[in-house]
Amino acid sequence: MRAIGDMLSDAAKAAAAKNGQDFSAESFEKMKRQVFADPDVRAFLTAHQDQLTKESVDASFASLYEYCRQKDSHDKVISGYLPQLFMEGPLIGIRYRASQDKQRRDKEAAAKRRIELIDLPEKLRRVKLADLDMADDRKQALFEVGAFLQAYQSNPHAKGLYLSGDFGVGKTYILAGLANRVAEMGGRVIFLHMPTFIAGLSSHFGDNSLQTEIQRLAACDVLILDDIGAETLSPWSRDDVLGVILQARMDNDLPTFFSSNFDMKTLESHFSATKNADDPVKAARLMQRVRYLAKEVVVYGNNRRLP
Ligand code: ADP
Ligand code: MG
Repeated sequence: MRAIGDMLSDAAKAAAAKNGQDFSAESFEKMKRQVFADPDVRAFLTAHQDQLTKESVDASFASLYEYCRQKDSHDKVISGYLPQLFMEGPLIGIRYRASQDKQRRDKEAAAKRRIELIDLPEKLRRVKLADLDMADDRKQALFEVGAFLQAYQSNPHAKGLYLSGDFGVGKTYILAGLANRVAEMGGRVIFLHMPTFIAGLSSHFGDNSLQTEIQRLAACDVLILDDIGAETLSPWSRDDVLGVILQARMDNDLPTFFSSNFDMKTLESHFSATKNADDPVKAARLMQRVRYLAKEVVVYGNNRRLP
């Protein structure tokens, strides 16, 4: 068996070489003093004193030294990761764990990937519910959003909301805050601008890809239809696209949200305005689905888009 002193020297030499330092007995003693004076190292040694011997500690010196160097370094390669000591059999090993800051950033990035925006601006990804001001005229809407989120935590089939109100009162913003929260909770969200989506239906989709798209909208965890009522519907887009999506979401009790400049009653007239004799019946059927899926909440307030 090799003498402990030799092993120590080897470890220290290896550690020093890694740093491009010259090795001397003197600098090694200094390194050792620094390492064993480090409060985190001491805490680790104390916590594991039953498993450690002087020999195993000495033999683990390279790990302890690397740990001390890395924990306060701003090394770009491992930025976002923190070193951690752990027992590796009788010896002490070192591993790297994502720091809380990095974990938070990774989590946020993953949440962003769970939201798909269709025909809506990217800035909506940055809207946080906590940042929305709680003016009196929007209290009820924010309260209902809070109630949904509370319910959604334990029930993926919680009922959605229909936010109606004038242009610019903040409906889309509130729904963006909701979408981001749902994504943080692990849900997949599709947030879609109805007028643009409907206008692009015939040009953007061949037959097969439209069916796939309808399936995706029908099945995602949370669907948000922004600005419903502002689109120009044909009987086909109303019954074979929107109607099919809403029916599927109703059958599966999947949370569905709407924003509209119209209240539900006015939306029904909009749905019956496609110039077919049976429109009122079809419109009523569609409205039934909307009512089943979402609770109407009026958002009051001033137009925030004005300077
Ligand atoms: P709506 O969908 O009701 O027409 P938006 O949600 O688009 O209204 O809001 C209009 C504008 O007002 C947004 O582009 C945003 O700049 C601003 N806005 C909305 N809600 C807030 C808020 N809570 N705090 C700050 N600005 C807001
Ligand atoms: Mg809007």
